[in-house]
Amino acid sequence: MHAKKAKSEGDISNTDHLASDAHAVLDLFSGARNLSTPVWVYDVDNCRVVYANAQACKMWQAESEEDLCSRDMSKGMSSTVAKRLKQYQADFIERQTTFREMWTLYPNGEPVSSSVAFRGFRLPDGRMAMQCEVLERASDEPDNLRSAEALLHTDVKIALFELDGPALYMNPAARNSIGGPSKSFQQLFVDSKDYHVMMFELDGSGEHRMVARVTTASGKHWFDLSAKLCSDAVTGQPAVLLTAFDVSELKIARDKARYLADRDQLTGCYNRAFMHRLVEDLANASEVRCTLLYFDVDRFKNVNDTFGHEAGDNVLRELALRAQQVIGPEDIVVRLGGDEFAILLYEDADYVHVHQKAKVLFCNLSGPVRIGATSIDVNVSMGIADFTPAQTDFESALRQADIALYHSKREGRNRYTIYTSEMGAAALDRARFKTEIESALKQRDFVLHYQPRIDLRSGNVVSMEGLVRWKHPEKGIVGPDNFIPICEETGLIDSLGQQVLEIGFEQAMKWQDAGEYMHLSLNISPRQFADERLTDMLASFARKPGFPTDRIELEITENVLIGDLDDIASKLKTITDMGYRIAIDDFGTGYSNLSYISRIPLSCIKIDQSFVSQLPKSGPIIRLILSLGKQIGATIVAEGVETQDQYDWLSRHHCDQIQGFFIARPAPLDELGGDTG
Ligand code: C2E
Ligand code: MG
Ligand code: MG
Repeated sequence: MHAKKAKSEGDISNTDHLASDAHAVLDLFSGARNLSTPVWVYDVDNCRVVYANAQACKMWQAESEEDLCSRDMSKGMSSTVAKRLKQYQADFIERQTTFREMWTLYPNGEPVSSSVAFRGFRLPDGRMAMQCEVLERASDEPDNLRSAEALLHTDVKIALFELDGPALYMNPAARNSIGGPSKSFQQLFVDSKDYHVMMFELDGSGEHRMVARVTTASGKHWFDLSAKLCSDAVTGQPAVLLTAFDVSELKIARDKARYLADRDQLTGCYNRAFMHRLVEDLANASEVRCTLLYFDVDRFKNVNDTFGHEAGDNVLRELALRAQQVIGPEDIVVRLGGDEFAILLYEDADYVHVHQKAKVLFCNLSGPVRIGATSIDVNVSMGIADFTPAQTDFESALRQADIALYHSKREGRNRYTIYTSEMGAAALDRARFKTEIESALKQRDFVLHYQPRIDLRSGNVVSMEGLVRWKHPEKGIVGPDNFIPICEETGLIDSLGQQVLEIGFEQAMKWQDAGEYMHLSLNISPRQFADERLTDMLASFARKPGFPTDRIELEITENVLIGDLDDIASKLKTITDMGYRIAIDDFGTGYSNLSYISRIPLSCIKIDQSFVSQLPKSGPIIRLILSLGKQIGATIVAEGVETQDQYDWLSRHHCDQIQGFFIARPAPLDELGGDTG
């Protein structure tokens, strides 16, 4: 029947009369039989005409009312039309209304455009049907007909609202989706804020476009809404013309894509790229002042090495969660990479307040993380800096927070530090110092001083420890405590360590060539030990003909042994298999778990000078170490021997070797005397 057009001219009356009993129904329609306009009653559920007057039969080109009533009107009816008729039925059930629309009817396939009035009509069995009355034939203006047709069939939702009242018109798509005509413009919006923004903008420029959540028949959906202020063509009253597209799928897909692009996959925190974009935006909001917290996990490498990377990942996820739990709704947690996180607190906070907030955050972040049956102790170090996006760029603020973090690490980790300008100055000094070290490495300004080790039984010098010194062009000889920590931090230790090995090994070759059977000890720092290139370098020296690997001892501290002991032990075995010996330096000051003693190939233990300096009080500990050495067959060396009393005590208790100022201070070989040069 109806492939039609709907150019609504709005509700024309509310004067409808709905009959509910069968007689009344027939009475009601019998009045229509005499009308000169075509009138018929359409049973929406069964797609049949149930009553029709003679004019209607004529218009539908039917021979009789029976003929018309026998037609299946659903044949050739588009789904849009079927839906729309159902909508009308629902509207009529909801309220008594009459409305007029332009429709194109197709009696025997020929289009007839007319203005049709529709009203609800209760059938004798109580179901809602609709009474249709052709009021006038439409002018056959093709553009009008086609545009009205388009309005009917389009999926775009188009509606006209009174400014403060119900819808004046909704096309089928709108009626289907965003609701019945009783709905007001304001009622469309899920979030009243959106409505107010829309009205504010309409008020200002007369039109506005936004994406907002809208209440629809099938729940809340995202819509792209374009609204324009206009006048209702019927009443002349101000109205809002709305065009709406459902963009839910697009929005969800876009939100998901944005989520993925903005987030760190492991922890779900924001990523660095997002942070950069955010602070660019913030830079335009001149009044925003924030606090930037920068933290990482203390000794995270050990977590990975000891418990595996999966456990490490879980620790990071847990940390992200802990951070999210304490921050405010606007604050942001960012994973910068590895175990490094930043938190942006949106707050114009004073020093005391930041302190408090940092403390809360800090306390929440640290604490054991349970992974299955294992509990991993997790501590963090944190640096805090003020951040005013309009004045400072993010990287600079991050650098300041990083400097403060560095202080936390240096002060023993597991703490937070608030950045000060003095720290900044010190960091600058460090940076300059680093550059200086780099050029010293290039110019080979590092040398070794040697400190002898004597055998207590024979009194002979049996070994030398090579200790690095920086021959500084202005400061003279600079001791390792002044530059080794920076080299460790910055990674320069790899190059420095390599130069030390080269200098030391060259000396060892000289002794060898001179027929001197002097042993040499060289210190290997934790970072240097972790460097893959160390074993390669040792191997390349070991391959040199006549190279005395068995007279070279590498001193490692107990810190080197923290982590995956199997890996470390196998690396040490590779080194000892080449012939080198391994000594534990500063024994008794580091790692508390002594189980490593039986698991690594160890030939020497050097008792830390702090025990020697406390003799005789520290006697029991030293005796314990001496007996441990005997049991595992390692040489025991006492370091830092400064006095005759210490010498005598160690001698009496059968310590193997000693080293210290009492014998000689570290010095260039030519100053040490003897034939060791
Ligand atoms: P260390 O390996 O334990 O070296 C012994 C340190 O104790 C040396 O300090 C030495 O001068 C000092 N010492 C020796 N006898 C006595 C004594 O009787 N009394 C006192 N008070 N001190 C004594 P130095 O040369 O300043 O080296 C300090 C640390 O720097 C070394 O401790 C070692 O850990 C590190 N180091 C030195 N050279 C190198 C190197 O080439 N590479 C690496 N990675 N670290 C090195
Ligand atoms: Mg040493
Ligand atoms: Mg030592």
